[in-house]
Amino acid sequence: MWPTAEPDVFVRDETLRTDPQQVRELWEAPDRRVVAVYKGHVDVRADVDCDPEDLILLGTIDGVGWFAARTRTDATVDLRAVADSLDPVERAAALTAVALDNWHATHECCPRCGGPTHMVRAGWVRRCREDGSEHFPRTDPAVITLVVDDDDRALLGRRSVWPPGWYSTLAGFVEPGETFEQAVVREVFEEAGVRVPVDQVQYRATQPWPFPSSIMIAFTARTWAQPSRPDGEEIAETAWLSRPEFAAAAQRGDLRIPPRISVAHHLIADWFGEPIPQTWSR
Ligand SMILES: [Zn+2]
Repeated sequence: MWPTAEPDVFVRDETLRTDPQQVRELWEAPDRRVVAVYKGHVDVRADVDCDPEDLILLGTIDGVGWFAARTRTDATVDLRAVADSLDPVERAAALTAVALDNWHATHECCPRCGGPTHMVRAGWVRRCREDGSEHFPRTDPAVITLVVDDDDRALLGRRSVWPPGWYSTLAGFVEPGETFEQAVVREVFEEAGVRVPVDQVQYRATQPWPFPSSIMIAFTARTWAQPSRPDGEEIAETAWLSRPEFAAAAQRGDLRIPPRISVAHHLIADWFGEPIPQTWSR
């Protein structure tokens, strides 16, 4: 099952966030859970002592409060490295904690007046101390697309910053004024020189990707057989691969796709039609 198809495990209760007394009671309950978060690193079973005013209330599950503490512990590990081994609840908590922590860390000043801001509403809002304006967490939409041609070959690309052999689907940020589908058409042409008809772009799934603050909107797109050419800047190599070519390259060790936590992995696995062996992922 696509991880993106899981129901939200948390009760995201807006009224709870504005009730400091209830937040304090959740914090003082013996079964509370805490995710320590520090620069994309997490400890999902943290035991920290904090004033609840400094904590983020991620949400509740069956009346139990889940908090994020913006601090480092001895057990903090890179979320991208461990996400696949977490249970779905811990993974959802960790993704939310990292997203909010990244936002708080980069929004300490008011975008209106430059004054200092501070965390309010259990970590879901920052308020300016000078002009009282309120600021909300940001999420940047990015499209990610598996393009397939008339011969059922998949278009994959290697980003310039990746080592040889690392391939994925094409992705990029949505620009102001664009629809998601238009962003797919533009990004695929910019990065790989491949034309995709906008009416052949099909929505597939979404995935929060707080590295640092994205949500990936995943698509498949079908187009005619045509050459690809990498842009040479963001994308170093592109390739159209049939299923046998893909499998052969992966078996030789010449091709690695993103880990199972990523929506790109699922787009590729869906096209391939069979489970992807562990050794084909990075
Ligand atoms: Zn201000």
